[in-house]
Amino acid sequence: MKSGVEPLVNDGFAGEPAKRCVGYVQSQREKGKNVVGIYCTYGPLEVVRAAGAVPAVLCAFADKTIAAAEEDLPANLCPLIKSSYGFIKTDTCPFYSLADVVIGETTCDGKKKMFELIAGIKPTHVMDLPQLPDQKEALENWTEMVKKLKGFLETTLKTQISDEAVEAEIQHSNVKNKLLNTILDFAALTPTPLTWQEMYDLTYLGQAASTADMMKVMEDALAKVQKRVADGVFHGQPDSPRVLVTGTPVGGDATKVFKIIEESGGVIVALDLCTGLKPYAGHIEEGAADPYRAISKRYLEIPCACMTPNDRRLSELDRLIEKFKPDAVIDVVLHACHGYSIESTKVKKHIEGKHKLPYLKIETDYSQSDVGQIRTRVAATLEMVHK
Ligand code: SF4
Ligand code: SF4
Repeated sequence: MKSGVEPLVNDGFAGEPAKRCVGYVQSQREKGKNVVGIYCTYGPLEVVRAAGAVPAVLCAFADKTIAAAEEDLPANLCPLIKSSYGFIKTDTCPFYSLADVVIGETTCDGKKKMFELIAGIKPTHVMDLPQLPDQKEALENWTEMVKKLKGFLETTLKTQISDEAVEAEIQHSNVKNKLLNTILDFAALTPTPLTWQEMYDLTYLGQAASTADMMKVMEDALAKVQKRVADGVFHGQPDSPRVLVTGTPVGGDATKVFKIIEESGGVIVALDLCTGLKPYAGHIEEGAADPYRAISKRYLEIPCACMTPNDRRLSELDRLIEKFKPDAVIDVVLHACHGYSIESTKVKKHIEGKHKLPYLKIETDYSQSDVGQIRTRVAATLEMVHK
């Protein structure tokens, strides 16, 4: 991007989405709203918002709390879990401090067992996530879990959640998701007018902020990106290799991978991640007889590697590849995330076989010790695009 181009979200926090979100959640708290900590994209935000609460994502991406976590947790555990736990242990997580209650989902063993260690600190509600999403019982069971969440929030936050409020939040989510995707779809242009940082910033904020509060941010961002296109302003070079990033959530210290891709001459055009497009990909049925069932159906479609089979991940990759036209796919897997790590065998075969695209798997954590090695491997992959 040429220097002097205004960031899409120009509030002084460009590149610091966590700080922006802390400010947002804090401001909501000062208005009297309860705060509900969530750990996963499967956490049904519409029910949280229908309770009059603001969601705060508790997944952490900082290396600095890992050492404290490793006093209690095995070193060979996913850094996202260790970092999140370390923040709680050292009482330094601003989101956790603001949270009145916490929701966890049984996605992977590490998270499940971590919830047990923190359950006594704040009221913590664990939702049993079905992991065979295509079995007919899955929808029944997850609907039941979402309804149990309603009961938990009503009891602990001393509130009532009406079906009308849930329906209104479904409609709000659909509006937000549609507009956010309209903005992010501009990365399908060659060259792209968006940076990975802008895509990351917007999607990060969208998890916490209500549709009403996101509206002005999104409308401003849309106007700016439209102006960039009209003015011929773009990111990278017209022939920069276009990269789709898929895999585990990538944020904070792990964004070293995004930076390396960019420093190696690539441009990131799609983030197929929970810290990217995944939370915004679906549409929830409006006006359904049972709004909880409609919510459950949409959330069960999230293609996380904790599901089996997880064929939706491959069909979602097909959709994104067709739209964003990447020249290469980079699969980022956090250390010790066995679900995503094993699934990468299927993803590699799919990308190289069906799409004939270069594929690179990067296993990493939040330290900076592997930056040199990642740089060499990314450069070699992007070099293939030019051959
Ligand atoms: S990768 Fe899976 S477990 Fe992790 S936040 Fe996303 S949906 Fe949840
Ligand atoms: S990245 Fe993998 S191991 Fe880590 S919390 Fe998410 S699903 Fe679990």
